[in-house]
Amino acid sequence: MRALFTAFAAVVFAQPLAAACIDFNVAPQQGGFIWGVVVPGSEVSLDGQALEVMADGTTFLGFGRDAPKTADLVVTRLNESAECRETLQITRRDYQIQRVEGVPAKTVHPPAEQLARIRREAALVSAARAKRLDRPDLISAVFEGFTWPIEGPISGVYGSQRYYNGEPGRPHYGVDVAAPTGSVVRAPGAAVVTLAEPDLFYSGGTIVLDHGYLLSSSFLHLSKVLVKVGDELSAGDIIGEVGATGRATGPHLDWRMNWRNQRIDPQLLAPAMPKP
Ligand SMILES: [Zn+2]
Repeated sequence: MRALFTAFAAVVFAQPLAAACIDFNVAPQQGGFIWGVVVPGSEVSLDGQALEVMADGTTFLGFGRDAPKTADLVVTRLNESAECRETLQITRRDYQIQRVEGVPAKTVHPPAEQLARIRREAALVSAARAKRLDRPDLISAVFEGFTWPIEGPISGVYGSQRYYNGEPGRPHYGVDVAAPTGSVVRAPGAAVVTLAEPDLFYSGGTIVLDHGYLLSSSFLHLSKVLVKVGDELSAGDIIGEVGATGRATGPHLDWRMNWRNQRIDPQLLAPAMPKP
């Protein structure tokens, strides 16, 4: 009986089933941040870039707005010469494109006298996002699920892009939630504050939260910043208030996420927005 079972198992497992090296929580797609488990001690790489592998074997990766169709995943188990190789298929997304004509040139290009300030502030934000906190407790909060920093109608989505007078603007990388000025904004998960600025040129009141291993959240256009750099936060902690500071057309929260040098869609990590 055992021999029969072994023979049966050998046949089943010898089939070249589209071998997946890792079972991810969801399928790879543009803007997605996904995770799966490998044998602890394994090495994992994506397009030749080493990924983190937690002590329990959890590994994670993300794809930018314009990620190509495929990526090469390689898993090498500890003490094993054989590698598992897989070509990940990354689902493409269709992004909203809007064309706006007749825009005065001065609103398309920032005023020259502000360029130094804009450059300085961009460096500040990049430095905050580049802080690398090796904190398994923070990243595991992502796997447990984020909560919305604020609830309300979604008024802008990840990836959308406007063309002004035929010139492409920067794609919108955040999810916008419309809410009145003064509405409370909360941490979507455990995090450490790496930037807390009351008034940046583009983004106004801005907070960057670190979720560990180069995964971060940014919150833009805040009327009040109620945290400071170094604060340790739990999910649901109040961080600021909604506003229309910086270059915003009306009060809303703009929530963005980065992993390494990729822009991630926060909406894919949050539950469905509750109906009012
Ligand atoms: Zn926005």
